[in-house]
Amino acid sequence: MELTDEEICMGDGDNEGNPYHAVAPPIYQTSLFTKPTFEAFAEDQVHENERHVYSRGTNPTVEVLEQKLAALERGGACKCFGSGMGAISSTWMTILRPGDHVLFLNHTYGPALQLIEHLSSFDIAYTVWTKDSDRSMEDCIQRNTVLIYMENPGTMTMEIIDIEQAVAMAREHSITTMMDNTWATPLFQKPLTMGVDIVVHSLTKYIGGHSDVLGGAVIASRAFIKKLFFHGYQLFGSVLSAMEASMVIRGLRTLPLRMRNHESNAAEVISFLQTRPEVKAIHHPSVNKEASALVDQQFYGLSGLLSFELKDGGFENVARFINELRLFRIGTSWGGFESLVTSPVKPGNEETLRHQGFDTGLIRLSVGLEGAPQQIKDLEGAFERTRHYVQ
Ligand SMILES: *Cc1c(COP(=O)(O)O)cnc(C)c1O
Repeated sequence: MELTDEEICMGDGDNEGNPYHAVAPPIYQTSLFTKPTFEAFAEDQVHENERHVYSRGTNPTVEVLEQKLAALERGGACKCFGSGMGAISSTWMTILRPGDHVLFLNHTYGPALQLIEHLSSFDIAYTVWTKDSDRSMEDCIQRNTVLIYMENPGTMTMEIIDIEQAVAMAREHSITTMMDNTWATPLFQKPLTMGVDIVVHSLTKYIGGHSDVLGGAVIASRAFIKKLFFHGYQLFGSVLSAMEASMVIRGLRTLPLRMRNHESNAAEVISFLQTRPEVKAIHHPSVNKEASALVDQQFYGLSGLLSFELKDGGFENVARFINELRLFRIGTSWGGFESLVTSPVKPGNEETLRHQGFDTGLIRLSVGLEGAPQQIKDLEGAFERTRHYVQ
């Protein structure tokens, strides 16, 4: 019988290699594994993607995490990386060749766009399609498009895309699809079950969950992960250490509990924001009326990363409001236990924001685990204290 997500997260990830049946998988803090004979060594080296030879290849602790993530995403196999960007860059270096074109659907993670921009010097081109584009998704496909890269929702303004439509279109043109599923985690969205070929995660966010570890993961078919292992992974060297893998495994133990708490706190924070006259718009799948059918169809739950727009935007007002927050700390990441606030609004970048489709009053909240009453009180205080400026 198929295990539930909770069972996968709590399981010991056991294997014959855990002789004492330790409930927490042992941390194999070793750079290499020795072999009884040179013949065995030579044989294992050929199969380094599935045998333990050197920890820039496989490591038993990392492997426990990989098995859990593959099971949670209902994928064939998983490979873990030293960061989310390590996972994204290694996957692209495995798939892309000079002359190729990548189509981005939806707003995607900024550094991923910076990387594809950098790859233009390797003769790789790209197009970004968002809801605001003049052209249709399909019109953005070129003869040399080999990869469709997407996020659902985008992690700044939380737009939703129709994954099944994107997958159908990609299949028709024999294009590989890849999705960053960091926002929802494998608990709240399972892209592979909707036909997406490759899922990528930043483990740094909800999955790690404690803001004390960086990591990334790619989940796909066994065949693709094998190819990824020998090219983008092993040779580019973005490795997750055994110690860090054990910390991410610990994060998985509480992931189901934490996600429900992030979800309910965010729902209360959103209800509060809806009462504030200073707020022009709120971005979160739960308030997306246009896409509500898609939201119901695609998600099993909704996480605690959201954004809203101050009616009276601009850098000064955004800074004033953010500076009045106490519980929401100022910082760039999200998905940890702590509530965080940030904004893409920077001094004098109105034009860039407009170009990206972001409002000049945009503020992003990562709603943590301190409790909705405390979070709301903090926001309320900031609204009250900036009342004089922010209408
Ligand atoms: C943080 C993040 C990444 C990159 O992950 P790192 O672990 O910081 O390299 C990728 N995608 C999304 C949506 C993210 O928020």
